[in-house]
Amino acid sequence: MIIVMKPNYTPQQLEGVIATVKAHGLTPHITYGVETAIVAAVGEFHVPSLDPFEVLDGVESVKRISQPFKLGSRQVHPENSVFPIDGFTVGGDDIVLMAGPCSVESRSQILETAHAVREAGANALRGGVFKPRTSPYSFQGLGEEGLKYLAEAREQTGMPIVVEIMSQTQLELMLDYVDVFQVGARNMQNFNLLRVLGETRKTILLKRGLSATIEELLMSAEYLLAGGNKQVILCERGIRTFETSTRNTTDINAIPVLKNLTHLPVILDPSHATGDVNYVTPIARAAIAAGADGLIVEVHPEPSKAVSDGKQSLKPEKFVEMVNQVRAIAEAMGRKIAPIKKSVSAGW
Ligand code: PEP
Ligand code: MN
Repeated sequence: MIIVMKPNYTPQQLEGVIATVKAHGLTPHITYGVETAIVAAVGEFHVPSLDPFEVLDGVESVKRISQPFKLGSRQVHPENSVFPIDGFTVGGDDIVLMAGPCSVESRSQILETAHAVREAGANALRGGVFKPRTSPYSFQGLGEEGLKYLAEAREQTGMPIVVEIMSQTQLELMLDYVDVFQVGARNMQNFNLLRVLGETRKTILLKRGLSATIEELLMSAEYLLAGGNKQVILCERGIRTFETSTRNTTDINAIPVLKNLTHLPVILDPSHATGDVNYVTPIARAAIAAGADGLIVEVHPEPSKAVSDGKQSLKPEKFVEMVNQVRAIAEAMGRKIAPIKKSVSAGW
């Protein structure tokens, strides 16, 4: 249920509402507006009548939240969620660019890629160190060694790092290194992991599951939000369909649909969505035209030698081309690519 406070509500009246919500076994989540405040009351219990809330002092109106996802819905939070990640802001007018290799493979590979994508205008560096591979015999990631290389790349370039977490057992190790936790498609419904990440105050990049509906994606985001973590970015990364000519099928519809249903920022991963370097840039352009707030793109200095996802990884010079084209589309949409802060160190 959503309880909207009157514009001139007092702190005591808000306290009274919060206490009544708790007395009904529900958890209050408060969104402060310029003049008013909205209290979203969520929990397992169904409240048969809204009357006990409507009569409270300072309350303007009480409504049920019609969507199954509550805290992520626009009913609870009508404005876009806009929040800072080290050096830039996501969810506002700016388009954010996250780029880097599928996997961190070596110190020189990640440093070279980091400097190249930074030069091209990327805001954040991606790189996996725990890889969700279909085969247990494929490269599984460098683990902590990879995190150290990523930390060095961050130090040299000033870019925050985006790294996939596969299990809550990796959290303790990763917390000190990682700026943005990526939850991969295969873990979108790993509810134990989501709950643990919801307790952190790190930004979470939640990718859509291979066969997940938009509603299921939003329900997974709800686990993060229910834990009090408001820094959640949603990522469309292509879904399984009957089509086999690309690795996945980009659900471009998902971008405006999500933007309509939720206040959370929405980005697209054109690399996994297409699986083919030839289609990454066209689909990146389409995403921005459709209203995405950013892109996460795989870039590798030598894609033919990549240990994972080389087929879909752009060479740095192709990434530059992609950024230039995306910039033009962003401008046509009245937006711009998020500016980068001054380089921290020149070389490596
Ligand atoms: C990745 O980003 O490298 C990855 C494994 O992505 P996804 O979870 O979307 O498949
Ligand atoms: Mn990958």
